[in-house]
Amino acid sequence: MDYSEAFREALDKVHAEGRYRVFADLKRHCGSFPGATWTRPDGTEQDVVVWCSNDYLGQGENPVVTDAMKRAIDEAGAGSGGTRNIAGTTHYHVELEAELADLHGKQAALLFTSGYVSNEASLSTLYRILPGLIVFSDALNHNSMISGIRTGGREQRRVFRHNDLAHLEELLAAADRAAPKLIALESVYSMDGDIADLRGTVALAKTYGAMTYLDEVHAVGMYGPRGGGVAERDGVMGEIDIIEGTLAKAFGVMGGYIAADAMIVDAIRSYADGFIFTTSIPPALAAGALASIRWLKEHDEVRRVHQERAATLKARLRKAGLPVLESSVSHIVPVAVGDPVHCKMISDILLSDFGVYVQPINYPTVPRGTERLRFTPGPAHTDAMMDHLVQALETLWTHCNIKRVGGVAA
Ligand code: PLP
Repeated sequence: MDYSEAFREALDKVHAEGRYRVFADLKRHCGSFPGATWTRPDGTEQDVVVWCSNDYLGQGENPVVTDAMKRAIDEAGAGSGGTRNIAGTTHYHVELEAELADLHGKQAALLFTSGYVSNEASLSTLYRILPGLIVFSDALNHNSMISGIRTGGREQRRVFRHNDLAHLEELLAAADRAAPKLIALESVYSMDGDIADLRGTVALAKTYGAMTYLDEVHAVGMYGPRGGGVAERDGVMGEIDIIEGTLAKAFGVMGGYIAADAMIVDAIRSYADGFIFTTSIPPALAAGALASIRWLKEHDEVRRVHQERAATLKARLRKAGLPVLESSVSHIVPVAVGDPVHCKMISDILLSDFGVYVQPINYPTVPRGTERLRFTPGPAHTDAMMDHLVQALETLWTHCNIKRVGGVAA
């Protein structure tokens, strides 16, 4: 059998569809984020401004965070040394879980090696703990949730139209009344920038006796007076059964978690393969995340600047006739392109000719025909950087002959 032919065909397919992914080789300028050095494929270097980092608040270079990480390495070394059960539960992990439980007003929290793993492991495990469980999943839920639901439930899932509570209610009403039920959704949807109706979801969950599972990956650190997420902002944190989050985005480090009642956390801790059979995160990551969460709890002003920067960029792009997705009511600024080849080409030219780094978002991350550029302005993006970005985009929209909003065709 010619195995190499199968691999070549798989690659040819993504090339032909214009969605072959090329990673930019970047190095952050620590202390002057979002500045970074891009190493070109030929080995030469160029200074660029990063416009698509999920280190939304720049916490990855906050000295409070980096000092805590350095201290932890000096005190406890590099790796954790094992799974949580076998020497891998350090004091840093214990403290961090307590801090996360407090952040979300829950009795307990459980750390995973990433947000992806926390969703995958927790959702698949819930099917084992609750036989006959039906998960009601938003159509735009992240791949990690879908993967957990598929692994655990196979046919025991119902997909409701994105943010459509009427459809969710229809599906809940049609399901076996006696079956255990879980509604799984995100708060901030990271590709469209829209936000779920958490109050409405909680009300439906109560009516139909369902549990709720909320992915706050794109909200923790950024929403709510202490950075507890949209559920905190909307006053429903206590009514969501399981809150899932990441340490890798606004907290600037790496790792994932769930927070819930102690019994729920204990059960998932005891059954989830993705928790049990893997080495725990290094002490330095736990220490950095702990410092970051504590600092952000006390610095609501960073959240206000963040929202202002996002609103300002949206307004500037719209003024220039560039198609910012109307759906976005959050810090995420998606600009529609609608074609994978154009999207990649614009992103390439922005990087090479303008020193602007924003990666193209193509299928399968978003549906075909909705390809886009996704900007994530942070507190450190200045007005001058925005001027430069808008000018560059205007030039490229003209160059690529892409339609502008309001029929201002280039
Ligand atoms: N959930 C959502 C909604 C995400 O967008 C992501 C990653 O982008 C994850 C979970 C996974 O989080 P992590 O990057 O920590 O693995």
